[in-house]
Amino acid sequence: MSRYRDLVLAVARYGPIERFARRRGLRLGAGRFVAGEGLDDAVRVARDLQRAGRYPILDRLGEFVADEEAADRAEADVTATIRAYAELPAPRRMSVKPTQIGLGLDPERATERARRIAVAAAAAGVEVCLDMEDHPHVDATLDLLETLHDEGHHHLSTVLQSYLRRTPDDLERLLARDPVPELRLVKGAYAEPASVALQTAREVREAFMRQTETLLAGGGIVHVATHDPGLIAHARARRDALGVPRARCDLQLLYGVKPKLQERLAREGETVGVYLPFGSDWYGYVTRRLAERPANLAFVVRGLFG
Ligand SMILES: Cc1cc2nc3c(=O)[nH]c(=O)nc-3n(C[C@H](O)[C@H](O)[C@H](O)COP(=O)(O)OP(=O)(O)OC[C@H]3O[C@@H](n4cnc5c(N)ncnc54)[C@H](O)[C@@H]3O)c2cc1C
Repeated sequence: MSRYRDLVLAVARYGPIERFARRRGLRLGAGRFVAGEGLDDAVRVARDLQRAGRYPILDRLGEFVADEEAADRAEADVTATIRAYAELPAPRRMSVKPTQIGLGLDPERATERARRIAVAAAAAGVEVCLDMEDHPHVDATLDLLETLHDEGHHHLSTVLQSYLRRTPDDLERLLARDPVPELRLVKGAYAEPASVALQTAREVREAFMRQTETLLAGGGIVHVATHDPGLIAHARARRDALGVPRARCDLQLLYGVKPKLQERLAREGETVGVYLPFGSDWYGYVTRRLAERPANLAFVVRGLFG
């Protein structure tokens, strides 16, 4: 499966394919994973999700910006998204990609932007997750989180990726902090080399289960973010066996992926968060979703040529 993922992500970076897909916009079936291009689209879908008993995690799409001006624009977009939460009930959680606000350019300037975002989010009662991107950005993302936590911005959280060989050490480092930061656990979505990442599905699932266990014992708030039914069942069973309250461990899934499972989990009394991306810079996000499942690619290709 990881060879399929590497291939799709590599082909997606090929200029003519990217330009063609971007020109066609969110038609082609890619729109299934994205609320729309505008903030109003996102707020409308977020309300629908809340009526259906799930909470939205808004994500204004954008990543790996090329210059400081683009990072400034991204900060303004993120701040506008925070303001839109005034129309939505709690829990108010959103995601930001650190390279969207310039972490890949100048970490100091990115930290200043993240600090301003943290202040605006605190005023609006919004919790902000710093998503985890490809492995060259992990150190800087953890440093960013720790810097802002040290300043008292405890409403900021981040993500650990089970496929990374370094994750057990990162987990230990974060769980030693006081207070323990809120953490989301995922398998990991990027094409990573064997030198830094586990390469088989079995190894990644086993790591995910071990890390779920460590997080549950660790005392902080845990978001188990996967569509893998076995891992969801494992997390629920271990949480209940360890007597961890549901408020300390919920489930998060992606918009457009396994909606029936999302509905069932909410019906069964789970708190279910749905990662809800929106915006015009959808290409990188959508190609990662296509790389997760051959059937998604077939669906989109049918939209292209059908
Ligand atoms: C809330 C949330 C936040 C995330 N944040 C990050 C992040 O910050 N950094 C990061 O690297 N990754 C992130 N991810 C993505 C994650 O790393 C995985 O790439 C993604 O969740 C797919 O892995 P899986 O655990 O669902 O397992 P998989 O083994 O990929 O999937 C399990 C089953 O779910 C279904 N499924 C999975 N993906 C899809 C899909 N795209 N379309 C249709 N069906 C699918 C399939 O039926 C599959 O058999 C996030 C995921 C979620 C749910």
